[in-house]
Amino acid sequence: MPYDYPALYDQMVVKPAVYQRARTIAAEIAQEPRYRKVSDATGVPVSLIGVLHLMESNRNFTKSYFNGIDGLSSRTYRAQPKGQPRNGKPPFTWEQTAIAALLYDGLDKGTDFSYGALCAKAVKFNGFGYERYGVNSPYGFAGTDLYTKGKYVSDGRYSRTAVSGQIGACVVLKAYQDLENEGAFGVASPISDIDRPDRPSRPPIRPIGADGIPAPVVPIGTDRPVGTDRPVDMRSEPYRPPANKTRASKYFTFGEFTKNGLRPIPNRRIEDNIRNLAQRLDAVREFYGQPITIVSGYRDPATNRAVGGAAQSSHTGYENWMAADIKVKNVRPSKVYRDFESSWEGGLGDGASFTHFDTRQNPPNRRWGYRNGQAVGFLGTDLSIAAIGCDHPHGVTASSIGSGRSTDPMGLSKKVQQLSQIGKK
Ligand SMILES: [Zn+2]
Repeated sequence: MPYDYPALYDQMVVKPAVYQRARTIAAEIAQEPRYRKVSDATGVPVSLIGVLHLMESNRNFTKSYFNGIDGLSSRTYRAQPKGQPRNGKPPFTWEQTAIAALLYDGLDKGTDFSYGALCAKAVKFNGFGYERYGVNSPYGFAGTDLYTKGKYVSDGRYSRTAVSGQIGACVVLKAYQDLENEGAFGVASPISDIDRPDRPSRPPIRPIGADGIPAPVVPIGTDRPVGTDRPVDMRSEPYRPPANKTRASKYFTFGEFTKNGLRPIPNRRIEDNIRNLAQRLDAVREFYGQPITIVSGYRDPATNRAVGGAAQSSHTGYENWMAADIKVKNVRPSKVYRDFESSWEGGLGDGASFTHFDTRQNPPNRRWGYRNGQAVGFLGTDLSIAAIGCDHPHGVTASSIGSGRSTDPMGLSKKVQQLSQIGKK
């Protein structure tokens, strides 16, 4: 029997750090004309269309909406559901795959399109398999107090200790709902447009900065005098990276990922990539209850050029990935690799003096070892040593900053906590 997802949606408390990211994403979704077009064709709300697109492919418009893995030049064949869309002739437009997939899953059916119901539809899209383990689906609830750990690391393979690094679909839906309630999207439909002609129908809420990164959301208040609604030009405000001592997560500072600022963070996107990885490394830190040294984290473009690194290195923030080569105190790197081999969602490299962790998603869960400075089996690819680790240390002194060293405020030397049972029926 499925959980009461609308009730869980009402009850969940979103973590503050996650919430800001969710709002940014929700605002982008609301502004995407391609989602609007698919919504018009299917009746499925833009919010759900965008959220599922986010979950399946990180909003990649070159992938089939059916599974986020296959391209548009053929029917799906690499991942389920295969052979889709059944009608029409490839190549498909992204919109064709989206419309077909939404109808295929019956997401246009029913009359309840409340946010709680959309949350339930999103979880259903991924499957109810987590209920078997008494865990709230991270696909729906990662980033809330209703999810701690436990994850399917591949189809049908469940890990009790794996921690999802995604933002849950219901979290983004909540952020979307909040923005809507705050009036950030303007009026909802042409009809209400006529009702309230004194408000702009679709205010440009996110100007694009010089670095191509949309500026933070500026909600358009409902109580402003007519005629003064002007989007704030965020381009005039230069990006300011966080201070070295600013925490990227519970256990790590930004300085630890940047050689204490020697590799300056250029923009908000990289900052978010680092924060995302740091938060996931917190779970590694807690698993061992031992300090972690970031041997090599973010690699800025100048450093990357200097070491001959490929542009697609995960250390550079390529495709919103981020990487860190870490050393856990008193634990052999090979053991760290083995401990997380089956559960880490992303790339994992087994080095002699470090373990490489990254957040790559495509292809996911890559595994490799290093020999004589080469990533075994991957020479000439994005995993060759030039790409992933020319600055991997061979005798290089590890960062001395290591906030992991000094902080164990919760006494987390103990084993990881039991799975959350909240929501179990
Ligand atoms: Zn590395």
